Formats: sequence, structure tokens, C-alpha cells
Amino acid sequence: MAATQAAGAGLAAPRTTAEALLTSAGRLLGLEDDLVEVLRHPKRELAVSIPVKMDAGKYKVFRGYRVHHNLARGPAKGGIRFHPGVTLHEVCELAMLMTWKCAVVNIPYGGAKGGVVCDPKTLSRGEVERLTRRFVSELSIVLGPDKDIPAPDVNTNEQIMAWILDTYGMTTGGTALGVVTGKPIALGGSLGRRESTSRGVYVVLVEALSEMRSDPKNATIAIQGFGNVGANLAAILHRNGYKVVAITDVAGGIYRHQGIDIPAAIARSQSTGTVAGLDGCEPMTNEQLLACDADVLVPAALGGVLTEENAGHVRASLVVEAANAPIDPAADRILGEKGVTVVPDILANAGGVVVSYFEWVQGLASFFWTEDVVNERLETVMKGAYGSVRALTREHRCDMRTGAYLLAVGRVAEATKIRGIYP
Ligand code: NAD
Repeated sequence: MAATQAAGAGLAAPRTTAEALLTSAGRLLGLEDDLVEVLRHPKRELAVSIPVKMDAGKYKVFRGYRVHHNLARGPAKGGIRFHPGVTLHEVCELAMLMTWKCAVVNIPYGGAKGGVVCDPKTLSRGEVERLTRRFVSELSIVLGPDKDIPAPDVNTNEQIMAWILDTYGMTTGGTALGVVTGKPIALGGSLGRRESTSRGVYVVLVEALSEMRSDPKNATIAIQGFGNVGANLAAILHRNGYKVVAITDVAGGIYRHQGIDIPAAIARSQSTGTVAGLDGCEPMTNEQLLACDADVLVPAALGGVLTEENAGHVRASLVVEAANAPIDPAADRILGEKGVTVVPDILANAGGVVVSYFEWVQGLASFFWTEDVVNERLETVMKGAYGSVRALTREHRCDMRTGAYLLAVGRVAEATKIRGIYP
């Protein structure tokens, strides 16, 4: 690497927010431009055709991708999504995010992502199974417990992970529990995985709140999204004596100043598909929730919900990004100017990949932990990552997103340099 080159000068313009964050972290860390250039490119992009015999008897060909971003710190780790909007560009971006997420929480993986362009709602169970198995067979040249370990993502689930395990075993002639995570418990899944993302969000939320006020349990919390992440987070907060005052989902929302009865909200969401209309609560829209009178705001639904238009209305002093990229760059600047603390997604929602890592470790050892052990170890990892990010924010007098990127990019850069770039 040309050590004499001025750090940050002469780099190609970043094409995405993640690349912009990499570039600025590289500058602050004093990394050489050519090293930053290496870090910004995916190591490999595999595009495959997946012929599937449909129930009607004819073949249909689907497009699938698997991208490895940077594998300096360990094998490739990242989910597989089935969605009509999947593109190679998006899969590349998501693979890079996985590199940083694994590095922030210091687990020994590189970043990956995969996807198949399809609409699973229009496919039968048999069609999804055949598509999954053929996709895995096409990916077999890159998959393996020490090479690339997929996990669930949008529209993929434990059953699909079980088919991945089985298909890999059919071609290699064994059972490699470490080839995929997010498996059913009956097939080597980890206890505590389903709640793991929410538990990680909870740990960093409490850490941040405890730094900001002496009475964290009196803080009021608003959650956007009541799916896997939002509902489990609400349940954990409630069990631990915290007060959730506002919840929205895709169909509506609720507000109750004294705190929402979370078990009742979960029961209502399970029986009707939405929390809206829960007894004793006022109705609330998504826009109202983002601007509501709560101390903590947790976006746990979609990306891009806080923008230049609505970020100025946020009244919370702490925003914890449970969803991926819920705050766009313009909104991030506005929140920073308002003095709002933001715990960034690559730290806040990393609990899922941490317990995926625990599942992989348990599978490789064929020795399974109790749920309490999983939760304790997750808490230790999340607290450690939070503390490391905070130390960097103090040292560099920067926000937590910058601090998280400094930590992640610094670790990946160090591993890349120590290995040396082949040949
Ligand atoms: P989910 O599909 O289980 O739930 C999504 C929730 O968001 C639902 O309650 C839905 O009603 C709500 N929602 C959808 N559109 C909405 C809208 N326009 N306004 C308000 N609410 C809306 O998804 P999830 O697994 O809970 O994931 C939520 C977010 O967290 C996503 O951004 C996901 O990428 C991210 N994430 C999830 C995990 C995980 O382990 N599940 C891990 C890391 C990050």
C-alpha cells in the first residue's frame, strides 16, 4: 500500500451510504486510499440460474445471487432473501453491511448476502423447496462450514434453512451442522435465536439510556413495527419493567401514556394481525409515532422511515435503529444537529448474527448450550461492542454511527493488512 499517499485523497466517489461511511472512517483512521479501495469491493459475486419444475409441469428459471464482501476475518456470513426486488447491486451492499456488523461485535466472520429474485407468495411449498435445493446446489462451490454460512433473511425461514442443511448433506455425504444457521431446534438450531436480535437491541438501548439518565426505567419508549424484532423487544422491555407507550405496525397503531399492556398487545396482534384498536389505548399513525412524546424511539419496521421531511419532528432524545437503515443520511444530519443520540443499526441489531455465530459454534462442537448461557453470552458481546464504540466516540468526538464504523473498518483493515493481499 502506498503509505505516502494522502489518506482519503484520490478515492473514487462513494456510490452508497455504506461506501460514504467507509470512506470517512478510512480518513479518520488514516488508512491508505488503496486499502480503502480494496475494502469497498466485494471479493466475489456469484450469479446463478435456477431452473425449477413448477407444479403445472413446466420449468421456470429464476435468478439467484451470493456475494462475499470481505473474508479477511473469517468465513462468509449473511442471510438469503427471496424477494421480487432482489438485485445484484442490493446484495453487494448488504454483504458489505454484514462485514461491518460482524466486525463491530467482533465475531470471526466476513460479510455475505444472497438472494433469489422470486415472489414466494406465488409459489407452492413444493416449488419453494425445489427452488431452495437447486439454489443451494448451484452455490455448493462456495458454501461450507468454514467457507460460507447462510442464514434466514426476508421471506426465508427455519424450514428453508433445514432444506439448505439437507441439500448440502446430500452432495457431501454427511451432516454438517455448521453449514447454515437459523435452523429449527430439532436440527441443531440454537435456543434463544428467535429473540436474539431484540435482546441485542434491548441491551444497547438500556446501556445508552443508563448513560443519559439516572432513572432509565421511567423513560417512555415508542416502537415502530411489531413483527419479530418489535414485538419481542416490547416483551423484553415489559418483562424488565420498562414502559412502552406507543406501537405501530403496517395497519395502524396505539398510544397509552401510562404504558401499554404488552402481553395484551401481542395477543391482539396475533389474533387480528395488528395492534390497532387495543382496549384502553388511543389510536396512533406511523407519522405520529415518529414524532410522539417519548424519550426513546425504536424504528423496527422498514428502512428509510426518517427523512429530511420528518426528522425535524422527532422528540425522542435517543433513537435505536433496530431496523436496517431506518434513517437516511439527511435525517441523520438533522438528528445530529438536534442533539439526538442514535445507536446505529450495525451495532443495535447485531444480536441476531451473534446468536447465529453461537449456533455455528454449537454445531461445530455438537455441544448445545442452555438458553440462559446463550443470553448471558449475547449480553456480554453486546455490552462489549457498545463499550468499544463509545470509547471511540469519546476519542474522536464523533457520533455513534461514525464510532461503529471506525471500530468495524479498523478491525477489517487490520485483518486485511496482517494477512497481506495475495499474491
Ligand atoms: P417482520 O416482517 O417480522 O415485522 C415487520 C413489522 O413492521 C410488522 O409489524 C409490520 O406490520 C411492520 N411494518 C411494515 N410496514 C410498515 C409500515 N409502513 N409502517 C409501520 N410498520 C410497518 O420483520 P422483522 O424480522 O421484525 O424485521 C424488522 C426490521 O429489522 C427489518 O428492517 C429487518 O431488516 C431488521 N432486522 C431484523 C432482524 C431479525 O432477526 N429479524 C435482524 C436484523 C435486522
